[in-house]
Amino acid sequence: MDIFHDSPLFSGVRQMLNGFATKMVRPIAIKHDQEESMPWELMKLASALGLTQTSIVDGRKKLTGVEEDPDPKKPKSQARLAVAGSEELAWGCAGICLAIGGSGLAASPIARMGTEEQKQEFRKLLSGNDDKGHIKVAAMALSEPGTGSDISGMKTIARQDGDHWVIRGSKQWITNGQSAAVYVVWAQTDEAAGRAGVRGFIIGRDTPGLVPGRKETKLGIRASETAQVHFEDCRVHKDMMLGIGAESGAAGGLADTKKMLDSTRPVVGAQGVGIARAAYEFLLDRVRGGTLHGTPMASHQHIMFELAEMQMEITASRMLSHRAAWLADHHLENVAEASMSKAHGARTAQWVTTRAMVLLGEEALEPGHPVEKWYRDAKIYDIFEGTGQIQRRIIAKQMTGQNPT
Ligand SMILES: Cc1cc2nc3c(=O)[nH]c(=O)nc-3n(C[C@H](O)[C@H](O)[C@H](O)COP(=O)(O)OP(=O)(O)OC[C@H]3O[C@@H](n4cnc5c(N)ncnc54)[C@H](O)[C@@H]3O)c2cc1C
Repeated sequence: MDIFHDSPLFSGVRQMLNGFATKMVRPIAIKHDQEESMPWELMKLASALGLTQTSIVDGRKKLTGVEEDPDPKKPKSQARLAVAGSEELAWGCAGICLAIGGSGLAASPIARMGTEEQKQEFRKLLSGNDDKGHIKVAAMALSEPGTGSDISGMKTIARQDGDHWVIRGSKQWITNGQSAAVYVVWAQTDEAAGRAGVRGFIIGRDTPGLVPGRKETKLGIRASETAQVHFEDCRVHKDMMLGIGAESGAAGGLADTKKMLDSTRPVVGAQGVGIARAAYEFLLDRVRGGTLHGTPMASHQHIMFELAEMQMEITASRMLSHRAAWLADHHLENVAEASMSKAHGARTAQWVTTRAMVLLGEEALEPGHPVEKWYRDAKIYDIFEGTGQIQRRIIAKQMTGQNPT
């Protein structure tokens, strides 16, 4: 029994993804972590099952068999489904979860601000396989060297030239940055306007001037590719600038992107819950059968208390993610709740994996040990999608109305 017990839709999605994570993800997780390689075959299967999150643009029918009420004012199930499903996939492997879902980072702003023509273009650029036979993936390029949290200092510039925008600059730490078939790139169109001048553009991989850069080597989530991407006077038609259509009701600037994060942050928080649960369950299994200094591990109070603390934190993080997603699905403001769920999920993932490492002792230090991997994966949850400090700034601002300096 869990918080989804009263909903056959959520518990069904959860069960299905737990089966997928157990049978398909876990067995290949360590291999892709050690090789730092994307699980292309599994991504193809996940795509066929409708798990790739570009279904935000395609509609969600594939995954659930349920069609959302098209009335935009009616409650939706999208954010809660993503929260329920992401916990399971990240429980399997957070890196593979991101490899499967990473294109959703680009799909979200298009779903929110895109015109019908832009959505069609996005689907067209993502259809079929690439020349290696891999499914096509998308990237969302916002961060730059020195401009991660503070996008007001963005150096990538878009200059208008007739019917085109000409983009120049470099992006860094971009998920799918090297392999993407399509990019949503953010650039400054009007320096005098500051943050309001930053706009998103849909750019196909084959566009002259788009140069995928170096792939990063990273601590965790190594089955997901992170890379630089450069724009050397890359020309994009003005019809591919986000926010130009009236139908989305969104202006297309970064303020709209921030609203989008209120739906995606609970999902990232839920992934933290998935990592924490994986480490907790591993430890629980060991405690049930194991001994310490000749006596059952379960007879040691310090171990039992740690397990109890872990379960409390995991449950609290899950409830925060679910609540923030419920608010998003009901079109209610959730700025603080989204940040709380993300910050808490990240903290729980780091704390639980750290304690599990300590309690397991030296075995967990061995490369290839699952808890050692989860410990490395957890750290990144405090950095991307807004760092822990940035989430706390947002929460504090919601509480006080003031921006902490
Ligand atoms: C695996 C991975 C995947 C990523 N994928 C993408 C992607 O697909 N697309 C994309 O655009 N980006 C992506 N990123 C980039 C990520 O969003 C940034 O790393 C993140 O926003 C932090 O930015 P930064 O690294 O420049 O750190 P900085 O912004 O330079 O921050 C450094 C430190 O200062 C703190 N800090 C900054 N400002 C404040 C403040 N005002 N108050 C208090 N503390 C502050 C931060 O919390 C942090 O501790 C990814 C990063 C990683 C690690």
